[in-house]
Amino acid sequence: MNIIPKPVKIIEKSGFYKLHETISVKRNEETENIIEVFGKELNIITDLKLETTEKDFDLQLVFDEDIPQLEGYQILVNNNGIRISSGKKAGLFYGLITFLQLIVNNEVPFCEIEDKPRFQWRGMHLDVSRHFFSIKFIKHFIDLLALHKLNVFHWHLTDDNGWRIEIKKYPQLTEVCGWRRNLEHIPWNERNNSNEKGNGIYGGFYTQEEIKDIVKYAAERYITVVPEIEMPGHTSEVFAAYPQFSCREKKLEVTAGGYWPNLDIFCAGNDKTFTFLENILSEIIQLFPSPYIHIGGDEAEKTRWKECPKCQKRIADEHLKDENELQSYFIKRISKFLFEKGKIPIGWDEIIQGGLAKDVVVMCWRGDGKDALENAISTGNKAILCPNPILYFDWKQVEDSQGTFGVTTLKQVYEYDPVHIGISKENEHLILGAQANVWTEWMTTNKDVEFMTFPRICALAEVAWCKKDNKNWLNFLSRLTKFKSILDKYNVNYYS
Ligand SMILES: [Zn+2]
Repeated sequence: MNIIPKPVKIIEKSGFYKLHETISVKRNEETENIIEVFGKELNIITDLKLETTEKDFDLQLVFDEDIPQLEGYQILVNNNGIRISSGKKAGLFYGLITFLQLIVNNEVPFCEIEDKPRFQWRGMHLDVSRHFFSIKFIKHFIDLLALHKLNVFHWHLTDDNGWRIEIKKYPQLTEVCGWRRNLEHIPWNERNNSNEKGNGIYGGFYTQEEIKDIVKYAAERYITVVPEIEMPGHTSEVFAAYPQFSCREKKLEVTAGGYWPNLDIFCAGNDKTFTFLENILSEIIQLFPSPYIHIGGDEAEKTRWKECPKCQKRIADEHLKDENELQSYFIKRISKFLFEKGKIPIGWDEIIQGGLAKDVVVMCWRGDGKDALENAISTGNKAILCPNPILYFDWKQVEDSQGTFGVTTLKQVYEYDPVHIGISKENEHLILGAQANVWTEWMTTNKDVEFMTFPRICALAEVAWCKKDNKNWLNFLSRLTKFKSILDKYNVNYYS
């Protein structure tokens, strides 16, 4: 059977259950909203309609407390129709997603399926700062995440090239910091050397109402939206409106292209910087029910901190050894604020430098992620694996294709295993899961993002969902051929 990600156990039987123009679903108030969302996805893939009924139904969803796993489910297809059971709504939803893939020419093969995910964190990231993407596209992207049974959308909302989320207390973050010179016709890394004033303004942002809409849309598909607010580095866009929170207090313009190294960062010696960030995070906490808030922490150059009297005073006052420990002070102070509000901070693996705060989750991205993972679990911290380049989808799919840096093939993604050799069994529970990252310096359009993401996301789905011994590259390739016909229905511009 051509299902991605591959279920744990499938028993195929002879015979088919025939569907007609309308699939009748057993009426159940508790599952009405799942059926409604499923109906929308069904409309994209097939001409079939849904209706609810008391008797003579084709499909029924059943709560079964004997299936304890939150996202696990079972499917039984026989002469009586299709029965999907799970202990929880998320499992019923995943059962429906599998059912979608079972339908061929309005027939469903008789079978028994048992399934559950390997990892609790099955993530996909999207950078909307380097290039901005519409709410309509974000919803389409979330539809596709759900189709792959991914359950985390990591929304990279702020970076040097534009601030993308409305903050009521600081309106200039979007009025000023969300916009840059339009130099889209110039290659990314050459833009800042350009003398062109720019022929307009490039940018955009999401209002808080739009953010709420996306969070709700994702939740209906059992996807948690994890927002990322970068700090202390990758924040130069903020200083276009609020230079007082940088070390030099110098007003900058929002950079239109590559900003490297990350020199201008938040001043760690100024208490008002922390008040500013805490006020921002207070609004973020209200908008996102996610238990996790991502606070960046990557690639912060320490040059300005070395020159800044306020930062140096902080190092002396707090008896810190150096600027790495100052970064640690920064992250720990913000983490404390988030923990007090009931949220768990996540940071890129540079947050390990200078000492890691207790219970912060580390996103391991540098190298193969192994060093960062070992460091994180040595102090009992949890980790998510998103190694560069294997799960960095801005890398090319083949040498002569679109993209940047080197090549990460579909096969490399598929064969990646988040549990590294050498991690002891008792520490495996500290690995929350895996995630792929889409940095959009070189992706200007929706179609670019799709081209770089697909079909590597299909391989990621199996990395995050399937046990190692249930994966097989050639078998995956054969299933992918069929799966691409589903991607075609979503009008996805996948690499092939
Ligand atoms: Zn400073």
